[in-house]
Amino acid sequence: MWPPMTAPRRVLLAIGIWLVLAAPAFAQAAVEYRVSFPAPEHRWMQVEVAFRDIPAGVLDVRMSRTSPGRYALHEFAKNVFDVAVTNGAGAPLTPARPNLHQWAVSGHDGTVVVRYRIFGDRTDGTYLSVDAEHAHVNMPASLMWARQLTARPARVTFVPPPARPGRGAWRVATQLFPTGDPYTFTAPNLAYLLDSPAELSDFTLRTFRVTDARGASPEFRIALHHDGTDAEADAYARDVEAIVREALAVFGGEFPAFETGTYTFIADYLPWASGDGMEHRNSTILTSAGALRNPAQRIGLLGTVAHEFVHAWNVERIRPHSLEPFDFEDASVSGELWFGEGFTSYYDDLILHRAGLASLDATLASFAATINAVQLGPGRQIRSAEEMSQLAAFVDAAVSIDRTAWPNTFISYYTWGAALGLGLDLELRRQWNSVASLDTFMQAMWAAFGRPGQQTPGVVSTPFTVAGLMSELSEAGGGRAFTQAFFSRYVQGREVMDYAPLLARAGLVMRPRATGQAWLGAVPLTFTGGAGALVSGLVPFDSPLYQAGVAFEDRLLAIDGIEVASQAALDEALGRLAPGRAVPLRFVRRGGEIVAGTLVPIEDPRIEIVTLESTGGAPSPAQQRFRGEWLGTRQ
Ligand SMILES: [Zn+2]
Repeated sequence: MWPPMTAPRRVLLAIGIWLVLAAPAFAQAAVEYRVSFPAPEHRWMQVEVAFRDIPAGVLDVRMSRTSPGRYALHEFAKNVFDVAVTNGAGAPLTPARPNLHQWAVSGHDGTVVVRYRIFGDRTDGTYLSVDAEHAHVNMPASLMWARQLTARPARVTFVPPPARPGRGAWRVATQLFPTGDPYTFTAPNLAYLLDSPAELSDFTLRTFRVTDARGASPEFRIALHHDGTDAEADAYARDVEAIVREALAVFGGEFPAFETGTYTFIADYLPWASGDGMEHRNSTILTSAGALRNPAQRIGLLGTVAHEFVHAWNVERIRPHSLEPFDFEDASVSGELWFGEGFTSYYDDLILHRAGLASLDATLASFAATINAVQLGPGRQIRSAEEMSQLAAFVDAAVSIDRTAWPNTFISYYTWGAALGLGLDLELRRQWNSVASLDTFMQAMWAAFGRPGQQTPGVVSTPFTVAGLMSELSEAGGGRAFTQAFFSRYVQGREVMDYAPLLARAGLVMRPRATGQAWLGAVPLTFTGGAGALVSGLVPFDSPLYQAGVAFEDRLLAIDGIEVASQAALDEALGRLAPGRAVPLRFVRRGGEIVAGTLVPIEDPRIEIVTLESTGGAPSPAQQRFRGEWLGTRQ
């Protein structure tokens, strides 16, 4: 945990409030950053940070190892070079290096100035990216900070490079607090500073306001750095506004108190960007190599907009105790990401449909894919949704050079949580004739934990625990018995909810998608020019191919006597198989051994969800009403 935050939360809050009230008389020197770009095309930037009015003793200056919303270690210190440390008079100091992330500065005169260069060339929600077009600055990846000064305010001045001929000067998009200087910003404390990414570029700006049920009317800003047209930016802004309005309705018409009065969507849709979306308190980073001009990519980009904006409530303010305060020095472990990420993912689909941006068929296909992934994922035999959440540090943008068994031992908490959100929404609607729903539960969580916890920018003072989740679900319509069963069977247990009767209430049919068709398991097979079909991924536990002894990097040579040297031949062989009927199988193992085995295919277990209408039926008025109250617009 963050060292200065280990005191009881109540005491810290009291100190925080006292500091704010007493600021004019007792203000401590802000930590001052100057960030400049002498040669942006070479992908590095210059940082100078001055820590003034610091207590005697060692000042522990750090680079972060994690970033809020990311759970693996990213070791941002690796990109730092040319570090020079001086005292207030400019005399050099030689810091100790107790570890790779830390510069322990002693012998200072109350001021420590650190200058360094930092390389960054990944445009996403986690890293730093500097090039001739922009600086895309994630603060934990970029700025050193001091352990002893985490409560201090910060002041950041950006020095943009000279504008190039024919191009606009870089401006700054950020949730940092503005000042009179368009390049200087402040943060009230370190937690807020590190949560505040900045995009410096000649971006396209669109703004709109939405008034909530309590009369708040925050300004929404879209800073769009892309290679598209103004018309695409206008259409995107209209759809983002529709998403904002539907998300607002989910939370009972109440926006969070955005501390700066603004919420900023920072979107970098550039060919060299990496796909990501990252939530922050008053902003989000949206990055993709996809483009708004491509309809298939565009809907994906809007899905990420919906996801990240729901996070303004769920995760940023309705926040699990396990993530608050966020630990910048070690991986954070949370068992509640099935709720924080998974329920948010369920709302991506729901909001896109409610906003009229995704068709019913596309929405049902997404729900079916979610159910299939959970129902059929071999990882479900091993771990619960809660346990999957706790693995985030291993799987969330984590890189390992060794092969892992994740396809067989892990189901994403995004997916499993989305399946739980879907089932819980339908179950609450069933129990309460749609008077209660998942929206009601989210509103209860907001009232209990989100709204009261937003007293200090960057800090959630009332994070929730599993007990809190359970009591709010119980109160919001679940009742005690159902809530306990829901958690013990589906969240902490490994059962799958019974979706078919729940979906039937909305006039939807969940059915096998390929009745009678033989199935080998979800095994990737590719043709790479060698003999037969290459098994190009881990073979799922207990699938027909697994039972037959076939493994990753083996090659299938013949199924039931048919050589499978091409996709067409493989399709022909599969078409002749019957579920449950054993056939000979010939394959060659990675090591060269040729095996004559037996394959017993099963019936394709995957489901699909279709409308009753499409099967020739007619939904009853009750089914139509249920469907409309669930999937229709909330405005
Ligand atoms: Zn998320």
